[in-house]
Amino acid sequence: MRSLPNCFVYNANPSRVVFGTGTIESLPSEIERLGLKRVLVLSTPQQVDLAEALSSRLRDEAAGIFSGATMHTPVAVTEEAVKVAAETGADGILAVGGGSTTGLGKALALRTALPQIVIPTTYAGSEMTPILGETADGVKKTVTTPKVLPNVVIYDVDLTMSLPASLSGTSGINAIAHAVEALYARDKNPIIDLMAGESIAALAGALPTINLDPSNIDARRDALYGAWLAGVCLGAVGMSLHHKLCHTLGGTFDLPHAETHAIVLPHALAYNASAIPDVIERLRGVLDSGDPALALYNLAGAVGARRALKDIGMPEDGISEACSIALSNPYWNPRPLERDPLERLLQRAWAGSPPVME
Ligand code: NAD
Repeated sequence: MRSLPNCFVYNANPSRVVFGTGTIESLPSEIERLGLKRVLVLSTPQQVDLAEALSSRLRDEAAGIFSGATMHTPVAVTEEAVKVAAETGADGILAVGGGSTTGLGKALALRTALPQIVIPTTYAGSEMTPILGETADGVKKTVTTPKVLPNVVIYDVDLTMSLPASLSGTSGINAIAHAVEALYARDKNPIIDLMAGESIAALAGALPTINLDPSNIDARRDALYGAWLAGVCLGAVGMSLHHKLCHTLGGTFDLPHAETHAIVLPHALAYNASAIPDVIERLRGVLDSGDPALALYNLAGAVGARRALKDIGMPEDGISEACSIALSNPYWNPRPLERDPLERLLQRAWAGSPPVME
């Protein structure tokens, strides 16, 4: 018998997904399916070559290129893109790149209601969430609305082959963190549980291989599949202590996003372990380890990620401040937040020691 809850809510976010190798070939037919005639191609300056290649392949169906996408979706950049969309008479958005480019596409869609096609090239997963984080005057604000969801997402494994091994590892563990926290979310449900388990298994299996051999297409396929499912998890249920700590550390000490996630995740899971025995049991199977928190710590090592907050710019005397911020406006968490064990967690993450289930 399954241990289904008596009642649960599952929010399926709408979007069509085309997944595989060489799926970029389906772009013209996907544009036609949406009835679009002229799409504005979005990218970062670093991926403008890819945007140009797509644009020349589309010929008349490309209205132009806007290659100003950047981290944290600054509103000033979005306003520039809105102008370009109007000037070029674009009737749709084609965002190709990582979470930064997807963010710009979402921000543009929110302001123009133009339909969006997203082609992700990292493991960020933003394309699956109704969440948009924007920055204005140095302040980041988050909007959650189905208006920012893409109409179509095309995952093409080929476009992820160039993602550097180091970025693949930390970005992939960042995705695992979404799936792990989905397993113990307050609004968890059996459908998301299925996706979360599948996501963690696919990513944890693939990432060490990608680190050793970034051109391994089977591992790249598994990682992109896992990242897609992790994005669904992030978009469907609430996140807890791990995400709160990472936002606090990132915002207060300007630490790099994905690397912070890779360091904190084993410790956050260890903190929660005593309150979520069923999830720990599930993760033992998914990660094939008696100690899932330690398995995630070892995974970070196996992908070549740094494992100490002190190595990515966190000052030791910031531990107490981070703890106070995390306690001041906490997210819901399966285990109540207490200062002493939280400080010990952060001390271990700062030093790079293995996680301890207290
Ligand atoms: P990114 O999009 O900033 O990309 C990092 C760099 O890698 C960029 O220069 C990019 O052009 C380059 N790049 C991307 N794909 C590449 C590839 N295949 N080969 C070579 N270079 C490539 O980084 P990211 O980690 O994908 O996204 C991070 C951003 O996404 C953050 O701002 C984060 O807040 C946001 N995010 C939002 C959500 C959400 O739900 N709203 C979810 C996850 C992440």
